Amino acid sequence: VLNKCVLEFTSVPENVAFARVSVAAFASQLDCTLPELEEIKVAVSEAVGNAIVHGYGNKPNHTVRVSATIYKEGLEIRVEDTGIGIADIDLAMQPAYSTDPERMGLGFVFMQSFSDQLQVDSTPGKGTTVTMFK
Ligand code: ATP
Ligand code: MG
Repeated sequence: VLNKCVLEFTSVPENVAFARVSVAAFASQLDCTLPELEEIKVAVSEAVGNAIVHGYGNKPNHTVRVSATIYKEGLEIRVEDTGIGIADIDLAMQPAYSTDPERMGLGFVFMQSFSDQLQVDSTPGKGTTVTMFK
């Protein structure tokens, strides 16, 4: 590990932007291009948004944890919630799949397109961890 930061914040929608700019600021010490930084912002927003909206059902007073770790090999971003969890991860990751008819179901598509490796670990009733490596 060359450098690491951990953020823990309350599950309110304002913190999607907080997490996005914070992780981008941390990642900007890597010499990444502006389009790459934009991709990081989108991926963080989608994962943190999912934790708040789906994991915690938009209820405040829960905690989302985000870590960003710089390895010699690349950047790892991890977003964790202790919310409802995902019963069928493969199904949830299908493009255009959403449990909310108002939504596009594209969050995981954006996370996938940013990441060289995307891993989703989830246990119903316990929570979800999304790990992206680039
Ligand atoms: P969009 O991201 O386009 O607004 P969406 O959030 O429904 O729509 P995805 O982000 O791709 O689409 O997520 C797909 C589905 O996976 C969600 O509808 C939800 O059912 C489930 N899901 C994703 N993240 C979580 C999470 N942290 N906790 C519980 N369920 C989740
Ligand atoms: Mg989403």
